[in-house]
This record gives sequence, C-alpha cells and structure tokens, in this order.
Amino acid sequence: MTEELSLEARILKFFKEFRDEHDRLKYVEMINALPALEDKVVKIDFNDLFYYERELAQELTENPFEFIDAAKTAVIEVLKVERPLDVMHISKDHIYVAVSGEEPGYPVRLRSISSKYIGKLITVQGLLVKVTQIFSVPVKAVYECNVCGAEIVVERRNISEKMSKPSCPEHRRASCKLVKEKTLFTDIQYARIQERPDELPPGQIPRFIDVIFEKPMVDKAYPGDFVKVIGVLDIRQRQRRDRLEYDFILVGNYVESREKEAFEVVITREEEEEIKRVAREPGFYDKLIRSFAPSIYGYNEIKEALLLSLIGGEDKELRDGTKIRGKIHILLVGDPGLAKSQLLKYAAYIAPKGIYTSGRGSTAAGLTAAVIKEPGGGMSLEAGAVVLADMGVCAIDEIDKMRNEDRVALHEAMEQMTVSISKGGIIATLNARTTIIAAANPVDGIFNPYKPLVANINLPVTLISRFDLIHTIRDELSEERDRRLTEHMILARESDIPYEDTFDTTFMRKFIAYARRLNVKMTREASDLLQEYFINMRRQASMTEDVSSIPITPRQFEALIRLAEASARAHLRTKVTEEDARIAINQMNLYLRQAAMDMTTKQVDVTQIMTGTPARKASKTSTVLSIIRDLVNEKDGEAVNEEDIVDTVIRKTHIKNRDEIMEIIDKLKQNGVIYEPMPGFYKPVHSK
Ligand code: ADP
Ligand code: MG
Repeated sequence: MTEELSLEARILKFFKEFRDEHDRLKYVEMINALPALEDKVVKIDFNDLFYYERELAQELTENPFEFIDAAKTAVIEVLKVERPLDVMHISKDHIYVAVSGEEPGYPVRLRSISSKYIGKLITVQGLLVKVTQIFSVPVKAVYECNVCGAEIVVERRNISEKMSKPSCPEHRRASCKLVKEKTLFTDIQYARIQERPDELPPGQIPRFIDVIFEKPMVDKAYPGDFVKVIGVLDIRQRQRRDRLEYDFILVGNYVESREKEAFEVVITREEEEEIKRVAREPGFYDKLIRSFAPSIYGYNEIKEALLLSLIGGEDKELRDGTKIRGKIHILLVGDPGLAKSQLLKYAAYIAPKGIYTSGRGSTAAGLTAAVIKEPGGGMSLEAGAVVLADMGVCAIDEIDKMRNEDRVALHEAMEQMTVSISKGGIIATLNARTTIIAAANPVDGIFNPYKPLVANINLPVTLISRFDLIHTIRDELSEERDRRLTEHMILARESDIPYEDTFDTTFMRKFIAYARRLNVKMTREASDLLQEYFINMRRQASMTEDVSSIPITPRQFEALIRLAEASARAHLRTKVTEEDARIAINQMNLYLRQAAMDMTTKQVDVTQIMTGTPARKASKTSTVLSIIRDLVNEKDGEAVNEEDIVDTVIRKTHIKNRDEIMEIIDKLKQNGVIYEPMPGFYKPVHSK
C-alpha cells in the first residue's frame, strides 16, 4: 500500500503518526514549535524512521536530496493544519531538515570514501581541522535581463551545486544582472575533517574531506573538535591545466561535536581485571618504567617522568571557580644524539591521542592554530598539533625552532588550556587541554653547564617556567656506560628476543588510558611531606647569605601535587600516599639539581629558570671559583695548577682574558677563599 503513496505523503504520514517511547507525537510537537524559532530545524532521527518504516529510511539513504526536499513540503503540510495563521509567513525555504542518529545512511570511514557513495547519505567521523570564514551565497537568485527587464529565477537544489548566470530567453546575447533585493541568500562555510591520529595506520598521512555547511549548521563546531558529520557525498570540479578532475565534497546536513572520551581506548572487563591483577604484583611500578621505550638504554628517571606525564594529575575546579590544570608538561634539553627524539616518539605512540610533531608543526597551522589565506580567496582557521591533541598528549620535538606566533599561543595553551585567535575576521577560542612533552637542543649545540639553563635553551623564560619538570641529558664520557649502551643497542636490534621482563606496547597503552581515568585523593600524610619539602627548601634559601636566592616557588609546589597524583594513578591507588609524595619529590629534586643548579655557587636557584637572571648574579669571581672547585674534585682533592685553571676558564666560560683570570685568582687568594699549598697550585679553603 505504501507503494502507491508519494514520498512526500509517506513522510507526512511518518510525521503525523510516529510516537516516541513516551507515546508522544514527537514530530508534530517539533513542527508545532517552529514558527517561534529563528532556526526552523526539524531534526529527523534516522532510527525513528528506520523503526517506523524501513523502506522510508532506505529512501533517505539512497536519495537524500529528494527525501529532504519532500520532507520540507511535508513540514509545511503539517504546519497548515497545526499553525494555519503562521504558515502564511513560512515557506519551504525557511525550513531546515536535519538527519541525526547514531550512524544514519552509510557509515563510511574517511579512508573508504569512494565514488560509489556519490549522491548517498553517509555518516563520517573525524577531527575538524579547519573552518573557513562564513560566506553568503544565493540559493534562489532572481536575475533581470539588461535589455527587456524580464525576471529569470535560478534555483539550486543543494549548496554544492554550481549556479551560473542565466541568459534571457528573448535576448540571448544580452547580459543579466542579479537583483539582490529579490534574491534569497544563505550563509555557508567550508570545513575540513581529517582522520584522527590514533586511527591512522602507522606511517600513513591522514585522509581528509572538505565539507560544506549551510546555515544553521555553520559555526556549530570548531577546529580541534571530534565531529560526526551526516551529509551527502558529492563531487566538485577542479580545473587542473588541461584535464578535468573531481574532488569529493560532503554536503553537510548535520554536525555533532562528540565527547572526546567516546574515542578513548576501549578497555574490556577482562582487560580491566588483568590490569588490576598485574598492578598488585610486587615490583609493578618499576616494571612499568622499565617497559617505557625499552629499546632505549638507561634514562630511568626520565622515563619515569614521561610516564607520570602521560598519566597526569587531576584537572580541578576550585570552589571559587578557578581552574587548575592537572597536565604535567615536561621538557628535555640536551646534547644531540641522545635519544630525545626517540623518547618523544615513543611517548606519543603509547599516549591516548598522542601526536608527535616538530617545533615548526607539520602543517601551515603550525603548533597551535592559524588564520590562513585560502588559495581560492577568503580566510580559514586551521588547528595545529597542540589543538588537535586536545585531551591527549602532544610531543613537540625541537621546540626551540617554533615560530613566533606559536610562542605566544603556547603560553596560553600550557596554562589556560585554550588557544585564542583573532585575525582576518575570525575570532575563536579553541580547546587545548593538552599535555606537552617537548625536547630542545642547546643553543650552542652542546649543553654548557656553566651557563644558566635559560641561556642554554632558545625559548622565552616565561614559557620555560611553565614546564613542571625540565630534565637535562648530557653526553657523559664513561667507557663502562658506553659498553653497556652499545650492548643494549645490539640486543635491541635482534627482533626475535623480547625485552626482558617488560610489558608490551598494547598493555602500556591500555594501562595509561586506564590510569588516566582514576580519581585520586590527597592524604594528610602525603600533603604533609610535600609541604615540609617545600617549606624546607624555602628555609634553606633564607639562611644563605643571599636573600634573593629563592630555590623553589609555589609553581613547583603545584607541580609536586600533580606528580604525586600521577604516581598514585600509576600505582592504581585512589589515595595519594607518602610513597607518591616521595616519588614526586625525587623527580623535583632531580630537576632542580640538574637544571637549576647555579654552577657558580652550587646552589639550587629556581629564580634563575623563572626570571632569567640568577638571583645571585654570577660574578666572574664565583665562576672562576667554581671551576677551581670542579678541577680539585676531579683530582680527588689535590691542588690544581694555575695554568690548568686559566685554560679551563677560557675554554668553558665567557671570561677569555688571561690577565683578568690571574687577577681574579689573586683576589680569591687574598680574600682567603683559596690557598696555595705549593707555588702555582691552588685549592679552595672550604671544599664541598
Ligand atoms: P636526539 O633527538 O637526542 O638528537 P635521537 O633520538 O635522534 O637523538 O637519537 C639518535 C640515535 O641514537 C637514535 O637512533 C637512538 O635510538 C640512538 N640512541 C641514543 N641514545 C640511546 C640510548 N640510550 N639507547 C638506545 N639508543 C640510543
Ligand atoms: Mg632529535
């Protein structure tokens, strides 16, 4: 019987008869409300349609444009009955029929889009990477013949259709002009959606498709969002020199931003049980660290830091509304060739929504976001790696090479967890709840321990200070270490031998995803320990003769809390224990000792990292003194030759004048800081 009815009549019947689970005439109610709405959207749930009449749903999938057009007419028919007065002011052109639901039409992966879906309704999912500004285009254009003034109406059925200027039937050679007052315009916007980094086959370039949205679907989602788009696959002509080519384009019908959690790593019940069981075994935490990039030899503390960063602390909202980040940002600085890049790649590989990129970023958008001139005219807003990795981890290699625009935006991303952009008429704030793991090469190519950390990194201090931990990696000459390192590298290359007593990457990925979801609570014991550490460091600072030397700031205290929380999660504990506090303190100590050590005074000095100028200004005198100390220590406490001192100072520091160095040595002797046990040999009075 349904065969005899027109498509429009069948849809009308569906609107009038469909009852939802509360037995309500859902669509009649929806249509009834339209006259009062600015955007007159009728949202058809594909599942309702399927449930009501399977063939009707099929009709929508196979002939979406016809279906939607018929549905608009049906909406008007319902209005004629329900709202006879209002319907006089409403035409089909005002109605927007959207199709929603789990996966309406054909669910298609971006990788599988092909010509066979042209003209069909499909559902695709992916990362929105770019949106253009909004354009105005005619949908029903009225032209006027320049000769006789006759009106010619040109309509397009869908917004991807080309609309060309008509010619007057009477005066074919005369030109026509658009009558703007009589033309119906609509807003459109182009967007690009791309495969998510975590669904990419290894080594593949992400596939993408351009989507065209029409009001009211413009500006419904922003770059960095995971979206589900329901639309009709179409083709767009491209002129490439002498041949014709067609691009796929999706005529967007409906867009929905999805909760990022929906894409989290799936963990089955059995897997959860397994994770919990394994975590109870003794030595679990150490095994976890051992399993982090097992092909890389050594660096246990750095691996621990990266692991804690991938897991992270808890984001919090304080009672006064202040948002506190739980993300742990880590920076590795060090000599080239020491596996920094390898560690970063591994971290991005096992992290949820991990992206590995270089400081320059891999697209025109750079690291954060950019407003870009489109080749065809107009502007677009494109998201960079840090925004695309929202809710995940972004590993930025050679961060010191990043572009200036990114430097500014990264400050905001690392603390406020957003990226704001306002350029070329596009104003937007994008989410960037991203953990940053970065690596930088030293300014001089090799780390100079006699220069403050900031002087070794080509990054603004304001940015450096936003990292919770900074670990320096230095190329140490040790035959013993070299032997074990090379042995390890040889073994690592024999692919059939698994790494001894480690978890595989699948387990690591699942474990990290699982641990990230745990809620943890600070205990009194743990917070006492952290507090005590913090207060002690501050007290030590105030006891040194130099009051301005503050070894630790509240920023580090926040970092300590985050690290302790991450440690608790890594142990699958819901409470932060004293052990977690100790792990956090150990990491902080390592960082402060390596990175913040003022080599001239051997004092830990965080202000040096935070402000760029050592609180105790590194005088030439203390530089020379520290060189003498180092040399004496190397010789197990024996006095050192004046010549050696001078040579070393010239080689390692910025003091290059021989006479000046001799003068300083003299002064140190006169002041009783060093003494001369034999002529020409010196030793500090207080050895450290
Ligand atoms: P960086 O980024 O620090 O300049 P890379 O990550 O490019 O260094 O490392 C250079 C090469 O040396 C890589 O192939 C890496 O695997 C190897 N390598 C360096 N240090 C180690 C190590 N400790 N264990 C194993 N391989 C290492
Ligand atoms: Mg590198």
